[in-house]
Amino acid sequence: MGAGLVTAATYNPMSFLVTPMKILISNDDGYQAPGILALYEALKDLGEVEVVAPEHNNSAKSNALTLHSPLYVHRAANGFRYVNGTPADCVHIALTGLLGYRPDLVVSGINNGANMGDDTIYSGTVGAAMEGYLFGVPAIAFSQTDKGWQHLDAAAAKARELVQRLGANALHGGAPWLLNVNIPNLPLGQIKPMKVCRLGRRHLAEPVITQTSPRGETMYWIGAAGAAKDDAEGTDFHATFQGHMAMTPLQVDLTDHDRLQHWAQTTGALDASTVA
Ligand code: MN
Repeated sequence: MGAGLVTAATYNPMSFLVTPMKILISNDDGYQAPGILALYEALKDLGEVEVVAPEHNNSAKSNALTLHSPLYVHRAANGFRYVNGTPADCVHIALTGLLGYRPDLVVSGINNGANMGDDTIYSGTVGAAMEGYLFGVPAIAFSQTDKGWQHLDAAAAKARELVQRLGANALHGGAPWLLNVNIPNLPLGQIKPMKVCRLGRRHLAEPVITQTSPRGETMYWIGAAGAAKDDAEGTDFHATFQGHMAMTPLQVDLTDHDRLQHWAQTTGALDASTVA
């Protein structure tokens, strides 16, 4: 094809209206983590990309906000901004004044380890994305299923592919959405096609670990997450165990809708007719 030749496939009559996609990147492993560096490198030419991420590892901070101490923002040599706060703090202050504009997409990760099943409740990676979603901005949380960053380049390539595939169409107009994506630590050619999954469930966490401090005090370490319990077909666990990339659309409403009526009757506090 000759240079400059405009074909039906490349001609977009609306292209003069298309502004570059504005992407805010955050994470929970901290602004120096290999996962956020790889994610930035993979997305940086897809639009205007800014990074606002925690100064330190904030894994398992969920949606926590820092309310009782001030937050400071500094800029690293590579342009990333880092905050002495949580993942949700980063996205919150970015969207409420720091950036000075509204991004089209919030992308969080790539996390060092899985965020599947119950993990999504605790995950700071999901928390950062969810903060975007709560502000009406579409958001994606990316995680590798195993810790250690093996095949991070492949995960970053898959993240880029998904963001590109969603593209401007999915970003403009309509209700925001929140996607939780887990990518197996495999070479690019071995990652099987993405499956859209429900969350699985984990067994209860391992027992707390007790140690004695050098000063004779008892210390407690939160134990490891439980192994997969519900990893049936259709779950994120099942898909990634088979080598697929797993994507789960998330919602935030924690209401147990199925049992509204049950609780209305059980407590007698409400007339059943008051349940919508
Ligand atoms: Mn993490």
